[in-house]
Amino acid sequence: MVAAKRTGIIDLHADLPADVIKYRDLGEHSVMERRHLPKLRKGGVTALVAPIWVESRFKPRKAMKRGLRIVDAFLEDLAESTDLVLVKDASALTAAESKGKVAVVLGCEGGEFIDGDLGILRNYRRLGLRTFGFVWNERNALADGMYHKDDDRGLTKLGRQVVEELDDQRILIDLAHIAPKSFWGVMEVAERPVMVSHGATSVRTSLRNSTDDQLRAVAQSGGVFGIFAVNAGESRDLKAYVDHVMHAVKVAGIEHVALGPDFYDYLFDELKIGDDDHLPAMVGLEDTTKLDTVISELSQRGLSEEEIRMIARDNFLRVFKKVVG
Ligand SMILES: [Zn+2]
Repeated sequence: MVAAKRTGIIDLHADLPADVIKYRDLGEHSVMERRHLPKLRKGGVTALVAPIWVESRFKPRKAMKRGLRIVDAFLEDLAESTDLVLVKDASALTAAESKGKVAVVLGCEGGEFIDGDLGILRNYRRLGLRTFGFVWNERNALADGMYHKDDDRGLTKLGRQVVEELDDQRILIDLAHIAPKSFWGVMEVAERPVMVSHGATSVRTSLRNSTDDQLRAVAQSGGVFGIFAVNAGESRDLKAYVDHVMHAVKVAGIEHVALGPDFYDYLFDELKIGDDDHLPAMVGLEDTTKLDTVISELSQRGLSEEEIRMIARDNFLRVFKKVVG
């Protein structure tokens, strides 16, 4: 059995800024340290990608301001913490881990907050943004999300400029939630490895499963595909989750698979739980404290300690280092 604490786990998608701004707006402090750190530690998480996710009601007109407020709340909260640290490159990430801290990478899910302006994108980068997800499920000025998978317009002209700017700025492109034509539009332009921070495979049909061709394209870019714990099939348990991981390993190769569970147990009040994209928590994988059970299950499936370490941590780290530095 492989111990999660020794392996270290990087979670490619943890929606923590949404929770932080909620509680800070109610007057709380140190939200990450008090509400989330103990759970992250229990699950063996040593680093995570935390996205700016602007709620639909602010889009598009107020998205930039909302994005800035979310970043401010999140950075203020991290500054109040001794055990969580914002990292802007791979060496800072590993340095934080080796000091026993949890490293936090700032990402985003939905590009509305740049307000169509590459200068604003660069300013967000100055604030720490290091991964960039073009869309949530909606359509925006850059690309289409999965709600538009059947009438996807593809990557827009502005979207294309953003891809080029992300490559120039060495921000890691995140293709979670993106509709198929838009996905291939980005792949055509992107020159660096890409990631899908939280996606599902073709093992079972869901709103957000990627085809095997998409998985292989991510792998061919040198990138990484994180498996999420939402639409993992009828059985919806740890085993179903690991079925997706194993399928991705088979199709993309073990060096291109990672964990992006997208836990949102703390956001149940905000989300419409029960719709296609927000099913109740998976049995045995309800929240981040259960992440180390994935490690044990991977071991049961016959993966070696080294292979598990690749999926749990090293694959993302390699791609992050390659793209961001
Ligand atoms: Zn998501």
